[in-house]
Amino acid sequence: MNEKPRILVWHVQGDAYRDALRERLPDAPIEAINAARHENGGAVLSGPDSGPAVGDDASATADAMSSAEVLLAWKLPPGALAPMSALRWVQVTGAGVDHFLESSELPAAVTVTRSLGRFGIQVSEYVVGYLLHHLIGIGAYRDQQRRHDWTRGERPLLADRTVGIVGLGSLGLPTARALVALGARVLGVRRSGLALDGIDEVFSAANWRDMLPACNALVIAAPKTADTVGMIDREALAALPAGAVLINVSRGDLVDEDALLAALESGHLGAAVLDVFATEPLPEDHPLWDQPRALITPHIAAPSEVEVIADEFAENYRRYVAGRELINVVDPERGY
Ligand code: NDP
Repeated sequence: MNEKPRILVWHVQGDAYRDALRERLPDAPIEAINAARHENGGAVLSGPDSGPAVGDDASATADAMSSAEVLLAWKLPPGALAPMSALRWVQVTGAGVDHFLESSELPAAVTVTRSLGRFGIQVSEYVVGYLLHHLIGIGAYRDQQRRHDWTRGERPLLADRTVGIVGLGSLGLPTARALVALGARVLGVRRSGLALDGIDEVFSAANWRDMLPACNALVIAAPKTADTVGMIDREALAALPAGAVLINVSRGDLVDEDALLAALESGHLGAAVLDVFATEPLPEDHPLWDQPRALITPHIAAPSEVEVIADEFAENYRRYVAGRELINVVDPERGY
């Protein structure tokens, strides 16, 4: 029997992914590089029979890289792809692939697929949770409790609000549907502008700014591409109604952070819930940390789960071996 295409896992959780893949693909040759240790200067290669990491072995690492036809990875250090001369397909362990497409080292013949994990559910819960937190005033009432203060404020309803979602893909669409289920009016933006069931109105890349004046909350869930970088600029923020909430779960580069800070400082924005930033980790001295209207999370809205991603990858690998079409193929021209 011919040997199956060789898989290289390159990830900070390299061993965990390798073990999860071996359970699902017992016949496949799988090796793993634990990325964090590699980035610290010493690659740890775990061979197919080695169980735990076998130790720093430069020649085995070089061999695994040059023979890999299939790569499962999140981020690679510069130069990592150069020795991978047999590479034909990369599956990224996350949904965003901007960093892979931006890498000029990726040969055009290499197919890139992405993973969808449970990101749609995770982001839906994050967005609904933070919107309700803001509307119900959970933080404010907690502060009142500390002061033994019984002041009764307004009780706004999500069901009376309009939420705009920029990007109606694997993250944005389930989020939209969750908000609709809670009674919110949901507007959305897709590049194509094509209508989607259950979404009140869908705007396109050409007319999306027309949506903004109606949005009590704006959720950013579009990929980072040449067209979307900086799209949430001063004018876009100014077009939102006073007191609106901005939630960014996509990439920090979509939002002009200086304009965002100004809109928070002036009080025009009621709150910004930010999971992603132009620079991550958010630098310790960044003014957003201390902005009272900013709610910051460290890029945890939708983390990749090893077992879920391993299932997805194994399905795609079986398709690859059978010569069938892969799922979740990225269009490099489109950029997502
Ligand atoms: P998808 O590719 O499934 O969907 C992208 C959506 O954005 C589509 O509706 C697309 O339009 C729309 N879009 C693309 N370009 C534009 C544009 N120029 N103007 C308006 N809309 C546009 O992406 P996902 O939902 O899977 O992921 C979105 C991003 O979220 C990822 O790229 C990643 O950066 C980020 N992410 C963040 C995570 C986190 O933990 N914070 C976790 C996972 C992903 P159309 O429908 O017409 O194609």
